[in-house]
Amino acid sequence: MAVTSALTWFRWPTSTYAVIAFYCLFFNPESFAQNVNDILARPTPEKPLNEYALRSWTTRDGLPHNSVNRITQSEEGYLWLATWEGPVRYNGRDFTVFDDIDETKMPEAGALDITINPNTNDIIVAGPRGGLVTFDGDTWQPYKVGSAYVFETVIDSNNQMWAATGAGVYRVSADGNHRHYTVADGLPDVAAFRLYRSEQTEHRGPTIWVGTREGLAYWDAETDRFIQERSIPSSQVRAIRMISNGVMLVASDDGLFYRRPLEQDFNVWPQPIRGPITEIKEGSDGCLWVGTFEYGLGRICNTTQEWISLQDGLPNSHVLDIFRDREDNIWVSTHGGFAQLRKALFTSFTPNHGLHGAYVRSVNTDAEGNIWVGTNDGLSRQTTNGFEPVSGNPVLEALSVLSIVPASTSRSVVYVGSYTEGVLQLTDGNVTAQLSRKNGLISNEIRVVKPLTNSPYILVGTPDGLYVAEETANSLRVVKRYTKADGMASDFVTSITEDSDGGLWVGSTNALSYFAPLEGAASWQPEPIDLALFTDARNIFAGTFHANRIWLATAHGVITRSMEEDDWRWLSRDQGLPFDKHFTIDFDADNNLWLGGSRGVLRISDGELSAWLNQELERVNYKLFTEADGMISRQLTTGGPASTIDSNGHIWFASAMGAIKVNPELVEEHAVESPVAVIESVTSDTGTLAWNDTLAPGNTRIGFQYVGLGYHMPEHIEYQVRMIGFDQRWIDRGDTLQTEYTALPPGQYTFSVRTRYPGGDWSAATDFKFTKAAYFYQKPWFWFISVLAMITLTSTVVHIRIRSLKNTRARLQAMVREQTKELEALALQDSLTGLANRRAFDQQLAREVQNSARHNTPLTIALLDLDFFKQINDRFLHAGGDIILKQVALFIADSVREVDHVARWGGEEFAIIFPQTAMEEASQVVERIRLGIEAMRFDKVDSNARVTVSIGITALLPNISAAQLLKQADRALYEAKSKGRNRIVRGYGES
Ligand code: GH3
Ligand code: MG
Ligand code: MG
Repeated sequence: MAVTSALTWFRWPTSTYAVIAFYCLFFNPESFAQNVNDILARPTPEKPLNEYALRSWTTRDGLPHNSVNRITQSEEGYLWLATWEGPVRYNGRDFTVFDDIDETKMPEAGALDITINPNTNDIIVAGPRGGLVTFDGDTWQPYKVGSAYVFETVIDSNNQMWAATGAGVYRVSADGNHRHYTVADGLPDVAAFRLYRSEQTEHRGPTIWVGTREGLAYWDAETDRFIQERSIPSSQVRAIRMISNGVMLVASDDGLFYRRPLEQDFNVWPQPIRGPITEIKEGSDGCLWVGTFEYGLGRICNTTQEWISLQDGLPNSHVLDIFRDREDNIWVSTHGGFAQLRKALFTSFTPNHGLHGAYVRSVNTDAEGNIWVGTNDGLSRQTTNGFEPVSGNPVLEALSVLSIVPASTSRSVVYVGSYTEGVLQLTDGNVTAQLSRKNGLISNEIRVVKPLTNSPYILVGTPDGLYVAEETANSLRVVKRYTKADGMASDFVTSITEDSDGGLWVGSTNALSYFAPLEGAASWQPEPIDLALFTDARNIFAGTFHANRIWLATAHGVITRSMEEDDWRWLSRDQGLPFDKHFTIDFDADNNLWLGGSRGVLRISDGELSAWLNQELERVNYKLFTEADGMISRQLTTGGPASTIDSNGHIWFASAMGAIKVNPELVEEHAVESPVAVIESVTSDTGTLAWNDTLAPGNTRIGFQYVGLGYHMPEHIEYQVRMIGFDQRWIDRGDTLQTEYTALPPGQYTFSVRTRYPGGDWSAATDFKFTKAAYFYQKPWFWFISVLAMITLTSTVVHIRIRSLKNTRARLQAMVREQTKELEALALQDSLTGLANRRAFDQQLAREVQNSARHNTPLTIALLDLDFFKQINDRFLHAGGDIILKQVALFIADSVREVDHVARWGGEEFAIIFPQTAMEEASQVVERIRLGIEAMRFDKVDSNARVTVSIGITALLPNISAAQLLKQADRALYEAKSKGRNRIVRGYGES
């Protein structure tokens, strides 16, 4: 009801058709064609209007009201909509309506206009009953201007607000003073609908323009009055705009008018225009976007006028406003919702564009350069503006198409492989032949059809093998079928790729075969390729021949080999690709590789690919394209083929929701900037948190709500967050708009969020700083003191303990030192006599035997055993025996040379080594010893004590060991004993 009441203010253009007819008569056809190049800045369209991605929102999508009167964008990037339910903020995901008039301080909820104050970035909302408020993101500030509808506001260079109302124009100064302009102040009519502030031009300063029910007027600063612009008829003015080259455009119920910068008067637009225009905007390409009452949205370029309306997907054909956002999206608001036109890199074609069915399985180009699209529901062919179904034969109705290919022999023939009807031959769009179960196939399921180059044969790939069929006009005939029996790896054929030698690479669901060409037409020798040798790839979906290599797209990456050698290479996730399943593979004119899968389209540049092929790169960089780039769906499909390159070099893909086209040449210039996120709210246990706030120590959770204010498919924006002070790195959040942290330790934190469109670069981060307070026991000083106390206590205890341990250790060390010393000595010395002990003797003997053998010098040893020593002990006790033993030992030691070695060999036994001494010489020494001992007196024990010694002496012979030498000496000693003791016996070797 509010709608009708507002619209009664407009005088409906009753004479629309008459006006058009008038201009039609007035201008001859020559001037209709008049180029607008000299009026518009550079009116060359960047993309046909019907190739823009069109998307619309209505109340079904959460839009609070279908009539969106005006659209604008805030400094942060929000879209603001003026609706009859009130001002609405749109972040790409949700609509927030400000419909509480207690909050907005508007007389009525509904909004007629919404705009941004360029000086303060405040939102300015105008509505019924003199409603005019500003919003700085926090508070709403009312400025009431009269009591009529407020249709539009502008801000002038002095930051004064101008308002066009149903009862004149108001100027509101910063101090709140109102100046009210009426007919008495020069307005052509009191009903003022449009206000516009033009920029400075060569001969006029910035000016406030007002569009009234009875014509156009501009404000004269000197007189503070409005002056009517007489070159515009006195009818309702609906749109006013100055474009980038300074041309003023005014649309009224009498048509469209323009005035060049230095001209005095407005002129009639040189082309016929459809009906009254409601809004005018200049596009980034210099074309004009115009909204109309009845014909939807138009775009006027140098030689073209293109229109889209209800039947093209616009929610309603009555356009209320047009807005161009920072990402160059065109927003169109209507009485039936609002729509977005996006000049995306990819163009999608759906049933809206005339496609027969949406689930596309195959796309291909015919000999004339037209695209054919096969869906699960039929066949379509490209026309001048979109697609049209190919029909006319019952077999084409609801045909599930798997493959489309142009014949190589006739320009008018196209072959279609189907799911249930076999192969169809279409000549000029009519079915002229069919190959099915009826004439030679095992089943009617055709995966791929491939005509051989310049040959009357076509290859037909089926689940039952590869058929060769002969084509003639109006007939198809099977001439051969290849199966596993002929050497193929598998019967199920999914793709056929021909190489430069006429060889075929036949892919199947789990294997690959190579068909080596043989003599004769259409004849090959199949052989299986052992994929397991170099790859995990199976399931060959598509192939292409490029740069003397065969390239195959598989369910597990791309495999390729050159024609010259068996140098198979495998490109997959391991080399950095984001996914493995590729249904299509194409090279564009610049040798960039394009892969299509169920998760989008990948492009790998020629440079990256070559570097990888030459083994200079381990991982390749790529670009990923998805819905955000204009694809109706990123989910591509498989078919024979599911991609093609048209005569313009554009690549087409089959997707689950339509056919998709991309111009590879535009990729580089089409870089899409990632939207910067806004943090919309931060909530804790107790409520919302502001920047730099402090959380209570007991707080258990903190949640962040954020959104990236980008409008190329906002649902596909990806998010990463990071809590600096907590997270070590960025955390992937997918497309979720909130993140919660529980139980953060006390400290200072900065929460960061960043965004990107799929495959793009990450945006700059948006931060939120806050502090989590600590309980006293969580505070650093508490811990500092506690730790200090602990340290003092511990160190005292430790100190005491260490000191006692140190003492003990010192004592033990001293003991050990002493013991060791003794043990060391004891080890080689006899404790009673001080002579070398038996161990020392053995070591010495071994050394001397070696020396003797090495230098070939003589060596003699003697063993001495005191006679009847038991009796000595018996007579003089053991102690007396010991004294005697010591004395004897001393005597022996004194009786030999420095170089000789004396040892205590046993209890009362001694041994002597005579190095470099022959038996004769040594015998003399021991004889002296024997005599000396016999003559010894032991007065310390008893003057009558006497002792004698028996001696065995022996010399070293070649190849005799120390042990053998001792044995000989021992034997000689034994002999000396047995011969009566107190004598020397010479021992000799066994020999
Ligand atoms: P013989 O060698 O002439 O056959 O008679 P013997 O009495 O010496 O007999 P034997 O060699 O078999 O005995 C050695 C004795 O030397 C036995 C032991 O009591 C004594 N004896 C060995 N070592 C010591 C020692 O260190 N001190 C003293 N006092 N007597 C020792
Ligand atoms: Mg003895
Ligand atoms: Mg003895």
